[in-house]
Amino acid sequence: MPELPEVETVRRGLEKVLVGATLSHIDILEDRCFDGEPEYATGATIESLDRRGKCLRLVLSSGWSMLGHLRMTGQMIFVAGSGEREGGGHPDDSLHASLPHSHTRVILEFGDQGTLYFNDQRKFGYLKLVRSDDLNSDSFWRTLGPEPWDEAFNAQMLRDICQRRSGSTIKSILLDQKVVAGLGNIYVDETLFLSGIRPKRKAGRISKKALGRVVEHSREVLERGIAFGGVSVSDYVNAEGLRGTMQQQLYVYQREGMPCKVCETPIVKIVVAGRGTHYCPTCQK
Ligand SMILES: [Zn+2]
Repeated sequence: MPELPEVETVRRGLEKVLVGATLSHIDILEDRCFDGEPEYATGATIESLDRRGKCLRLVLSSGWSMLGHLRMTGQMIFVAGSGEREGGGHPDDSLHASLPHSHTRVILEFGDQGTLYFNDQRKFGYLKLVRSDDLNSDSFWRTLGPEPWDEAFNAQMLRDICQRRSGSTIKSILLDQKVVAGLGNIYVDETLFLSGIRPKRKAGRISKKALGRVVEHSREVLERGIAFGGVSVSDYVNAEGLRGTMQQQLYVYQREGMPCKVCETPIVKIVVAGRGTHYCPTCQK
């Protein structure tokens, strides 16, 4: 959390308000949440917003890129307009009224246009400046697998990986950002439900045809996640500070003990790859 659909929703929201805006000042309230020299970004204009997997990228006119890793509880919320903000509210208050608050780690000011707040309760998320030319050597960026909609992510490719790592569970393979970028705990559980495959199944024992279904359903579930503005079950909100509604659409994630929406069997929760994992014992084999 947040995964590809949540980060894509933030990206689309910020794209509307930030392209063409000039970054006038960076206020770093928590050192571990900002990596780089602010002067490489200050005074630069935002040329475009990009995304790879769960990582957001602001392309700056200075030749640098600002990468946004939301990790567990990160938020990027834009508030339009200038002027001193009172802030100091409680993080659970109406987000706009209370910003900045005790979870605000970095403040990016865009002159009269507005302010972007990077909030993160648990401080695992961060903003990082990387030279745009050096992006492909960034330790995180360069290891990412294909985007889910890339042709490179296909049944044959997934089959090859599953054969090489035949003893791994299918869930751990799909969670691996080097295999495919952007899937996480929620969307892997949903993908495997739609594919009729139990999360604990050994990768080497799944047919190429079934893996083709995994590829198709992962795209489908991510597209629905974007359409519903992401899953808000904990801290995730979009660039306007508003919650998504994809949680109402989920088949298995966080539905332990509730009836399967297809067959009414109670949904089971187990641990796979160290993560709380949900599946239907009837629909998934
Ligand atoms: Zn079922």
